[in-house]
Amino acid sequence: MPPETSGDMSAHWAAGWAKIRARLRSEVGEVEYRTWLRQMSLGGIEGDEVVIQLPTRFLRDWVNSHYGDRLRALWQAEVPTIRRVTIQVATAEPAMTEAGSAAPQAEGLGTRLAQRPAEPRGADPRSEWIAPLEPRFTFDTFVVGKPNEFAHACARRVAERPASPGFNPMFLYGGVGLGKTHLMHAIAWAIREAQPQRTVAYMSAEKFMYKFIAAIRSQSMMEFKETLRAVDVLMIDDLQFLIGKDNTQEEFFHTFNALVDQGKQIVVSSDKPPSDLAGIEDRLRTRLGHGMVADLHATTYELRLSILQAKAAAAQVKVPDKVLELLANKITANVRELEGALNRLVAHANLFGRPITVDSAHEVLQDLLRAHERRVSIEEIQRKVAEHYNLRMNDMISARRARNVARPRQVAMYLAKQLTQRSLPEIGRRFGGRDHTTVMHAVSRVTELIDQDVAFAEDVALLRKMLET
Ligand code: ADP
Ligand code: MG
Repeated sequence: MPPETSGDMSAHWAAGWAKIRARLRSEVGEVEYRTWLRQMSLGGIEGDEVVIQLPTRFLRDWVNSHYGDRLRALWQAEVPTIRRVTIQVATAEPAMTEAGSAAPQAEGLGTRLAQRPAEPRGADPRSEWIAPLEPRFTFDTFVVGKPNEFAHACARRVAERPASPGFNPMFLYGGVGLGKTHLMHAIAWAIREAQPQRTVAYMSAEKFMYKFIAAIRSQSMMEFKETLRAVDVLMIDDLQFLIGKDNTQEEFFHTFNALVDQGKQIVVSSDKPPSDLAGIEDRLRTRLGHGMVADLHATTYELRLSILQAKAAAAQVKVPDKVLELLANKITANVRELEGALNRLVAHANLFGRPITVDSAHEVLQDLLRAHERRVSIEEIQRKVAEHYNLRMNDMISARRARNVARPRQVAMYLAKQLTQRSLPEIGRRFGGRDHTTVMHAVSRVTELIDQDVAFAEDVALLRKMLET
């Protein structure tokens, strides 16, 4: 290239850049190009370095690993002084998207190249298909225990050999905060690392629906279908959001079939097993259940403790065992809350420069710990009470009225009322199908006795304490 003024240089570069893109487009094909490359913009040229920008980290990494060398070669062919092509995430507005440079000559782009803001239209919605993956959610950071070992093993297997028979689709289900999203991202990371040539698209079912509706509105269904059918692995998180959304389900069903027929892997997560997804079309439900169905069970104390230990170690903070045990004991709902509690402790300790202790944990997590007071089941109450009075479990539900059986039974009913959220009729039912008035009577009788009889009151208090801790 002859030396020229900087304005003319920009025009040259813009023309060169347009040529390079056209070249790439013909090399990789329209679908690939649109999916990955269309959003590239020229960030600038400084010395021997070309900076190319992309809107997301994922696109940057992808383009870098798949097209980085090719881009450099094409640039070198165009501008021999270029030695390096750096691909980065656009920090501010991209200098020039494809839409902005559609006809550089005609528009006399010249010096405006660098400042030209991206047109909103130029932002290709397709890049959003690929939701960014959470860097923390890898197999390395996933703690395996009894409740999740099966789901974890399936996920590993799918990551190693996508679309193997028997594992396609992979249907992952479990309650909130038990690690579904974590496992899905882990699969995506692993595939991306081992087989970077494969396209992994991860998105929530909501996003899928949103994109689908947007495609209908903008009459771009062809593109929508094309983009989706071009991926190697499709992951849809929280499928339960599609319940009752008939048209979206229909489209998902077609995508699903097209991909499975082409030997592509599908991974779906949901809060329920396929059989319980009422409001999902039968044929879709059937197909969803045809591959590998894996569930994440509620955590156990052991798993909670291991997770806490792993997270504390990863955060490089010293948390006394007693504190970890306290959390593992009290915060049982899901891993997300457990994590939140630990993070709060750590943040608090950092903020005030004090070590974490059992006392400070109680103080900092007061609200959480109270909300997680142990929930007792009626069965546990019956068992403990029977044990305490030396009775059989069966005496709790039998029709026997002998005082030595009837009184403890009343105590158990009283405790059931006090310690659970169950209604009187429900409690009655669990005590051998008794009427709610019987439970009411038991509650008032025990209340009376507690007032009158100190030994009895102590007995009940002791039982209560045992059940509550
Ligand atoms: P879900 O998608 O099932 O609602 P997530 O995957 O978002 O749950 O998990 C909630 C949080 O708990 C995340 O921060 C995740 O990393 C963490 N988590 C869940 N299970 C585990 C586990 N077995 N090991 C480590 N972290 C976990
Ligand atoms: Mg999730």
